[in-house]
Amino acid sequence: MKKAKIAIVGGGVAGATSAVYLAKLGLEVTLFEKEPSLVSGPPFCHLHAGGNLYREISNEQCIKLLKQSIDFLKFYPFVVDYRPTVIALPTIDKQTPEQLLPRLELLRKEYERLIEKDSSNQVLGEPRDYFRLYSKEDLERLKSKEIPTKPKNADEWMVSVAQNLDFDNVQFPLILVQEYGLNLFRLASGATLILENMKNVTLRRDTEVTNIQREEESWLVGYNNKQESFDYLINSAGFRTGKIDDMLGVPCKRMVEFKAAYVSHWKSKEQTLFPEIIFHGERGTPQGMGQFTPYPNGYFQLHGMTNDITLYDDGLVANTPFSCQPKLKENFMQKIEKSWNKDEVEERTKLAIEHIGKFIPNFLEATVGSKPLFGAQQIPGDDPTLRVAEVSFPTKGYARCEIVKVSSVIDMVRAIGNDLTKLGYLDIEDEVSSAFNLLEENKIDSLAQILCEQRGYPRSLGCRNIVA
Ligand SMILES: Cc1cc2nc3c(=O)[nH]c(=O)nc-3n(C[C@H](O)[C@H](O)[C@H](O)COP(=O)(O)OP(=O)(O)OC[C@H]3O[C@@H](n4cnc5c(N)ncnc54)[C@H](O)[C@@H]3O)c2cc1C
Repeated sequence: MKKAKIAIVGGGVAGATSAVYLAKLGLEVTLFEKEPSLVSGPPFCHLHAGGNLYREISNEQCIKLLKQSIDFLKFYPFVVDYRPTVIALPTIDKQTPEQLLPRLELLRKEYERLIEKDSSNQVLGEPRDYFRLYSKEDLERLKSKEIPTKPKNADEWMVSVAQNLDFDNVQFPLILVQEYGLNLFRLASGATLILENMKNVTLRRDTEVTNIQREEESWLVGYNNKQESFDYLINSAGFRTGKIDDMLGVPCKRMVEFKAAYVSHWKSKEQTLFPEIIFHGERGTPQGMGQFTPYPNGYFQLHGMTNDITLYDDGLVANTPFSCQPKLKENFMQKIEKSWNKDEVEERTKLAIEHIGKFIPNFLEATVGSKPLFGAQQIPGDDPTLRVAEVSFPTKGYARCEIVKVSSVIDMVRAIGNDLTKLGYLDIEDEVSSAFNLLEENKIDSLAQILCEQRGYPRSLGCRNIVA
């Protein structure tokens, strides 16, 4: 094999995973991250193991999300909060729950098929339990049960739902599906711990790459008034990917979207475990989807797909023929690079609480838990509903990461591995299926909580409710 020196620009999920994967295959890797810590970009809280939050996408995208989520879970088991998701259709919704069933059946069969192919793919429970339906009578029956401290099966997860949901505002049956939670602070922590301990990794945090030039077969990467030469370049700069494209002069087409999720605290439910609950709705209307995501100790992350909660007027922008970098308006850049206005945090979090309170009336007593989890993400191409994308190779020796959902990173890094193989830097047989089997849970836990604190969030956001 030829020796390769690899530069990775950007230490979000895409860059950190590339670094772990390629370093584990023995390559010499330098990871540049302009922020003080890794994985500090836009948030993620949901493993889209079937894409059931997105009614508008194709079955093909859903199947791909299922497969990619299984690979992601196997690679990063310690990032996953093993609790299910409950999907409810509001009474005013145009669809009925029955209309969602053919896709769920298709996904269940696909899950079965993946397990037949490789039994280690069985990470979402038994295929027959991939989803389950709950009638109003089922919920009435569960309502009188005591809420278990650690739910062990679907019925036990539904007790807290039964006791808190307003039955008049949702259609039955409710659907419980094995789409689990993800914890970004734990991914940041685990990736940092592993990369800090690898001899073939140079971790340059607090280091912005400011220019890149081609010199014969190499890339000259400029940072801190220095230049260093590399054989292969990975652009994992997230929503700033276009800036690197501009440095190289390669073709491009992409959008960037700013979105935010709000952190609330429900004091009286500090000891109660909930599944995630989705209230479907039409994106961009006042009835946009509501997403109620539990963390330990009464914290809930909230999305409301309306323009005054998660989405923003002018929050989605495209690149122009003059630059690969879509330009977000100043108020979004202010939030990303400096801070939020306190009144806006209060106002939008309250609207998010009210959005969910329409279905869980007692939740109206919740308060603001912290500043929001927020950020901008790229969407390659010109279809804003695209949910599955991985990586492209616009010129020799250059990989451009383009994930939309974090579960796509494993396919992304495998494709980069194939490109490196073609260039003679890796062996065709090389693959890594799990990153972190040697990491100690308590170390991940404690660094995750420190990262929460450093970034201004409650330490509870670095923890998970259910471990495997
Ligand atoms: C509100 C919201 C909720 C979301 N929820 C989910 C979810 O539940 N599930 C899911 O799968 N996905 C979710 N996503 C999408 C997910 O957050 C993104 O797909 C993912 O974080 C993108 O990771 P990335 O590594 O490509 O980019 P980023 O995380 O943005 O990483 C890019 C990194 O590059 C660094 N960088 C940029 N330029 C330079 C430079 N010149 N030099 C050095 N460093 C540089 C940046 O500082 C940054 O750390 C959500 C997105 C948003 C906005």
